[in-house]
Amino acid sequence: MASQVTFIGAGNMAGAIIGGMIESGFAADAITATSPDDAVLAPLRERLGIHTATDNAAAVAEADVVVLAVKPQIMRQVCEGLRDAAQARRPLIVSVAAGLPAETLERWLGGELPVVRCMPNTPSLVGAGAAGLYANARVDEAQRRLATELMEAVGLVEWVDDEALLEAVTAVSGSAPAYFFLMFEAMEEAGVRLGLPADTARRLAMQTAFGAAKMAMASDKPPAELKRNVMSPGGTTERAIEHLEQAGLRTALAEAMEACAARAREMA
Ligand code: NAD
Repeated sequence: MASQVTFIGAGNMAGAIIGGMIESGFAADAITATSPDDAVLAPLRERLGIHTATDNAAAVAEADVVVLAVKPQIMRQVCEGLRDAAQARRPLIVSVAAGLPAETLERWLGGELPVVRCMPNTPSLVGAGAAGLYANARVDEAQRRLATELMEAVGLVEWVDDEALLEAVTAVSGSAPAYFFLMFEAMEEAGVRLGLPADTARRLAMQTAFGAAKMAMASDKPPAELKRNVMSPGGTTERAIEHLEQAGLRTALAEAMEACAARAREMA
């Protein structure tokens, strides 16, 4: 029988993962989502055919995997409410909440549980996420595969073997969609200064980022080589790249990512 997966919280992140799971062939019948508000659950029930519940503990009592997908601010209260059911059932716990260590979640849930902590990013909402996953020592191989399967439903999964590395993941992918949005903003502004209509510049910049990512992912060449391949000596691209290097884009990114990881450490 398929593993029973219960989502605690039925918002953006849970909805995206559930949608992705069903698209990739997971049985709707094996999925339950909970929320105190049935109005949030009704569309999931009707659109995706999953089970829904307003009682978190009852939904955990039958689960093999419990995905914690509520806001970090209410996580303690939610976990403490699940404690008895989690201790009786001992399911795999998967948390997508930012900044909450596996050990803290385990303690709130009464202790000694297999916990996978996941750092996803917002493109998960369109099936193109990138997530870093960490498993505590109680997670077995089958549970690790199951967690991989769940998160692969909305994008790329990379495992890290030290929980502290999730702070690096936050810098490289968790917070990183915003770095690219900033680039789009800046490229649109510069395109307008060069005479293009704003929406034309925006579409060209976004499609180029998409194409560059697709090309780099399909290639076995490192990005440095792909970059060199589009830089003919004395040409336009070479001129642009020289400016970006002189202006310190590399250092700016490195410093931004160090600051991001440091902030993730402070918040843990
Ligand atoms: P959201 O506000 O869309 O969803 C939260 C859900 O929790 C809602 O459905 C709400 O009804 C439900 N809820 C509230 N109280 C509850 C309770 N007591 N029991 C059960 N359900 C309850 O939030 P989201 O954006 O889906 O974020 C969920 C988690 O995912 C957060 O911890 C966040 O850190 C993490 N996350 C989200 C993103 C993202 O792209 N949205 C990215 C990275 C991490």
